[in-house]
Amino acid sequence: MKFGTRLIVAVLAAVVLGGAAVGVAAKKKKKGDPTDKTVNVKSQLKPGPVRNVILFIGDGMDETAVTAGRNYHLGANGRLMMDRLKLAGSVTTYAMNELMGSKKPFYVTDSAASGTAWATGQKTGLFRISSEAFTDKPLTTIAELAQRRGYRTGNVSTDSVTGATPAVQMAHVRMRNCQAPGDGVCLTDAKSEGGLGSIAEQAADSKMDLILGGGRGDFEGTIPAGPDTGKTVIESAQRQGFDVIGTKAELDSYSGKKRLLGLFADGTITPEWNGQPAMREGFVAQRCETGKRPAEQPSLTNMTKRAISFLNKRSKGKKKGFFLQVEGAGIDKGAHAANPCRQIGELVAFDAAVKAGIQFAKKSPRTLVIVTADHGQSGQILPGPGADKSAILITNEGERMVMGYATAKNDSSQEHAGITVPVRSFGPRAANLMGLKNQTDIFDVIVDALKIRAKK
Ligand code: MG
Ligand code: ZN
Repeated sequence: MKFGTRLIVAVLAAVVLGGAAVGVAAKKKKKGDPTDKTVNVKSQLKPGPVRNVILFIGDGMDETAVTAGRNYHLGANGRLMMDRLKLAGSVTTYAMNELMGSKKPFYVTDSAASGTAWATGQKTGLFRISSEAFTDKPLTTIAELAQRRGYRTGNVSTDSVTGATPAVQMAHVRMRNCQAPGDGVCLTDAKSEGGLGSIAEQAADSKMDLILGGGRGDFEGTIPAGPDTGKTVIESAQRQGFDVIGTKAELDSYSGKKRLLGLFADGTITPEWNGQPAMREGFVAQRCETGKRPAEQPSLTNMTKRAISFLNKRSKGKKKGFFLQVEGAGIDKGAHAANPCRQIGELVAFDAAVKAGIQFAKKSPRTLVIVTADHGQSGQILPGPGADKSAILITNEGERMVMGYATAKNDSSQEHAGITVPVRSFGPRAANLMGLKNQTDIFDVIVDALKIRAKK
């Protein structure tokens, strides 16, 4: 007993003295150890609740695209907005091998199957827009779940709004190319066959509060069946409560009270930059030409800012906030065309839009911002022009960057690559997307953050 008591006294003394010693040490080291950056990461770790979610998708934006954009625009030691987000992870991208009759993975996805995975939480086959593999059953999207629970929803893209990435939030079709009424690939999805209609028709029928992008051409066709038979899709959208606008000036000055459909180009919005595509021979060192987008078309940043303020204003005083998806589509399109200037210009434009999202999230701290991509692309940064097709760019820091493209034979469009892509997040619950994730996890994180999961 005596020994025991002595031990306890000794332990207590050690605790007290130790505590004092730690206290002194803590006082001395109040500024912390400057080599330990834990505190920087900790400052970005925030739990819920979440009121708004902004999901940024860089189509085809793998780490090569990010690196090429950083190198060209800011230099190898520069940092893009998305680079500054500390809570980072990677996402696996694969589709279901439905075309071979299998539910197992097909390692290289397209944007339709990829988008379906994060929009609905379910893997599907190539070319499907929020449509179940093998059954054609419509899969409920984040935007649809959010609408049912009283959130405002928006969809912004530099693509046609009938493109696969925006479509996955507001349409359900077997084939992604079923974009306009009368498109032959619609088959049983056509309204004349009793289906939900093309992507344009479903956008007009949707409950989205705001849709901004290109694709006016797909809305000019005539609806073959249903309540709007004989009307154009634009007329149908107007009847169902959308104001339809077509220029940047109309977007900037819009103060109406209706839902908003902005169609700023016939097809995709014009890429910001251009230059010589990669070639087999005869390439010369080049600087990218900037400022290529016509003034009547809004930039992605412009559309993103307008979308945020539109949705946020309409959420004021309401219990629920908003869900907004923003796509930078041209990164992928530039890579398909083996055109590094187009690819990089769109990456830089996308990063500027991300900055607008982060700026809003800093003022509205219950906003979760997620920045990710849908699949890898062609395009590598190489030591010299050894790929099938090459281009040499002189970066803003005055150095040569050789981009090589070699995922297509002959002169066909470059192919996607089956690689994990980055995910970088900011705001409450952002920590849920650190480490290696599946695209379906993005769905889970968003529906749990907004508390909109469908009841089983
Ligand atoms: Mg896309
Ligand atoms: Zn693509």
